[in-house]
Amino acid sequence: MKTILHLDGDGFFAACEISLNPKLKGKAVVTGQERGIATAMSREAKALGVHRGMPIYMVKKLYPEAVVVNSNYHSYGMFAQRMYDIVRRYTPLVEEYSIDECFADISDLPDPVRAAENIKKELKRELGITFSLGIGPTKVIAKVASKWNKPDGFTVIQPDEIENFLKDLHIGKVWGIGPATSTHLQRLGIQTALDFTQRDERWVRENLPKPEHFLWHELRGHSVYRVHHEPDDDYGSIQQTRTFTPSTKLDFLFSELSKNVEGACMKARRHELSTRRVYYFLKTQEFRYHRFEVPLTVPTNDPSVILNEIRATVDRVYKQGFEYRATGVTLSELVPESVAQNDLFGEVVKNDKKREVWKISDLIDRRYGTHTMILASSLRAREKRRTRPARRLWIPSMGEVA
Ligand SMILES: [Mg+2]
Repeated sequence: MKTILHLDGDGFFAACEISLNPKLKGKAVVTGQERGIATAMSREAKALGVHRGMPIYMVKKLYPEAVVVNSNYHSYGMFAQRMYDIVRRYTPLVEEYSIDECFADISDLPDPVRAAENIKKELKRELGITFSLGIGPTKVIAKVASKWNKPDGFTVIQPDEIENFLKDLHIGKVWGIGPATSTHLQRLGIQTALDFTQRDERWVRENLPKPEHFLWHELRGHSVYRVHHEPDDDYGSIQQTRTFTPSTKLDFLFSELSKNVEGACMKARRHELSTRRVYYFLKTQEFRYHRFEVPLTVPTNDPSVILNEIRATVDRVYKQGFEYRATGVTLSELVPESVAQNDLFGEVVKNDKKREVWKISDLIDRRYGTHTMILASSLRAREKRRTRPARRLWIPSMGEVA
């Protein structure tokens, strides 16, 4: 049984501004002037009615008493770094989830709840910022806990109390459930998170795609998503990220992800490794990460397999109205390719054929330069940089390549 801690900064950007400039304390502080929309707000600003995404001109018109400031991501990043460091005093198993959130696996600490209380105190004392903390047996439950009582909250959900916390929680509020999935689940008669956990495993398997199976387990207190700690994980992972001119377009972002996946898989094949767990993220203009984790049933280094998983889940990660500036992919839990092949069973023949194709692709790349042959899904990301049209080619087991 695991004990996972999740912590989340309260109005983080605005809180950083107040910590840097104590004169702002008690005022309705709003960040995001330079972008023209509110990106974070102090408790006082929230009480006035300011919310994230509200146009700045409207904030100024409706609430002249509000103090609107430019964002300073460099400082926020430094606060974030200190936040992770404070948590690392207690355990190295810390996942830097976003600029104001992290997970920590505190299962092995002698008194995990006491440790979390101390972390909370130290964050407040040393950063001058309040965080809401949640503890639960899984990452998804820890997320429910940290949201339970905001701001400045501290909520522990013991495995036998989960039901109490899920019974009034709308299914759409669960971490990892996007609007489309939420609608789908409601059509199937599921309104609350508890409704979902009360369906049996067979029903879940027959009616829902894989990401929901993982969520179902997590909501029932069985840990599937592990805390992805760095850099301790580095020896066992391959990462590929790229920054670009900010975009709101999902098809372009997917193409960027596709290119990352291709690059990461190429590295994996070079080292004869396959991945068992893929993480990917979209990074917003405000340096927030929207991430997703995909545990794979069969280890692979085939980009088309991984991209199918990403295609099926990206609508939970992508949020309309956000400008994204980078994407990234991590292949983790790497295992030797040979191990992967032994696990394949019925998939062996099909995958062997595909493996041949990738081998040839790698050969061509070695001879004519990296990315000579790419998946068609990566084209848009590539066209941004190239004017010469790429030639496309259809390979039955892979679809269109270029
Ligand atoms: Mg926050």
